[in-house]
Amino acid sequence: MLRKVVKVRIYPTVEQQVNLAQSFGCSRWWWNYALNHSIETYKETGKGLGQSALNALLPALKKAEETKWLGDCYSQILQATTLNLTTAYKNFFEGRARFPRFKSKNDKQSMQYPQNVKVLVDIIKLPGSVGEVKASIHRPIQGKVKTVTVSKYPSGKYFASILSEVEGDNPESSAEGNIIGIDLGLKHFAVVSDGSKVSKFDNPRHIRKHERNLKRKQQKLARKKNGSKSRLKNKRLVAKVHERVSNSRQDFLHKLSTKLVNDNQVVVVENLNTKGMVLNHNLAKSISDAGWGMFTNFLAYKLERKGGMFVEIDRWFPSSKLCSNCFYQMGEMPLDVREWTCPHCGTHHDRDGNAAMNIRAEGIRIIKLAASQSVGGGFPVTAGGGEVRPKKGRKSNLRRSPTIPEALTVPGTPGQCG
Ligand SMILES: [Zn+2]
Repeated sequence: MLRKVVKVRIYPTVEQQVNLAQSFGCSRWWWNYALNHSIETYKETGKGLGQSALNALLPALKKAEETKWLGDCYSQILQATTLNLTTAYKNFFEGRARFPRFKSKNDKQSMQYPQNVKVLVDIIKLPGSVGEVKASIHRPIQGKVKTVTVSKYPSGKYFASILSEVEGDNPESSAEGNIIGIDLGLKHFAVVSDGSKVSKFDNPRHIRKHERNLKRKQQKLARKKNGSKSRLKNKRLVAKVHERVSNSRQDFLHKLSTKLVNDNQVVVVENLNTKGMVLNHNLAKSISDAGWGMFTNFLAYKLERKGGMFVEIDRWFPSSKLCSNCFYQMGEMPLDVREWTCPHCGTHHDRDGNAAMNIRAEGIRIIKLAASQSVGGGFPVTAGGGEVRPKKGRKSNLRRSPTIPEALTVPGTPGQCG
């Protein structure tokens, strides 16, 4: 089965907005309650709580006097919340995402209908008491509708993300074709080596312009008095610019990842340890803004769809310090050094281009290793990779399954920026 997500804008009536607000509230309350309960249980017993253990708490809550109102909520929304929370936990423990966070009513609101949603022309029919909501469906929904996630942004807009399943399978994955290594950085968003040449891709200038605008509006908002009318107005303005920034950033990430996946069969990147890097405070904002995590997720699922291969190499791999020509390893390579000359073979290197070449070579080494270890076949590796270095027993990862579909394919969602 192939999964597709289409995100459309919806226009609930005032009455429906009230209705949706109640459901958002239920979903948010249950998420926070279940998250807190999981954390406490873990502290006491050293064990987490699974989906069914969490769902088993619901009947008692619906009976208890102070949480009786949960019973008015469409029950499948609560079940879907539980599933999303346990998926978030899983993604965290498998190193793909941050620890799940508590939800606030000031952030984007969202909830999921796991079934019983009908998509008609210009109308989405939600189960429960909401009913038919006007929608602008810009392209036909293919296959069978599975889940629909409804969200409300701080700017006041409503959206529905429709996940559908289409008959068919992703092609078998193969490494036959072009292989590229990508160095993700702050100076350039991505530096790509295909083995013979290096290309650099920067964040588009209009995004930087929007970002400056956002900063200005945020500063203005900070000067407004709490609870004042103009504060409320400015808050909405900030939310709007924020949405524009993340939409155009996501658009850029989609275009670049599509281009790279169309032109290549294997993409090698470094496993990003955002947590470790965020400790360095100066880098923190740039990292969360750069959207690297979103970009690698886009690459991973687009490659999976075409039967390509996404290879993550260990983050301890010294991609910047290694000479890609003779593999001499420098002791130090401070961030401000943009060019350097190898003391061993005399090759002059551009910092990022050299790192991308090393990342590519390391990816090829890992694929060959995996192929030689898998009995009876494995991956056919034919890319010109004479530059493969000897094995040094580092951890690596051939990642082929992407994370939660909602996080992957929804265009126009503010992603890495809380
Ligand atoms: Zn060298």
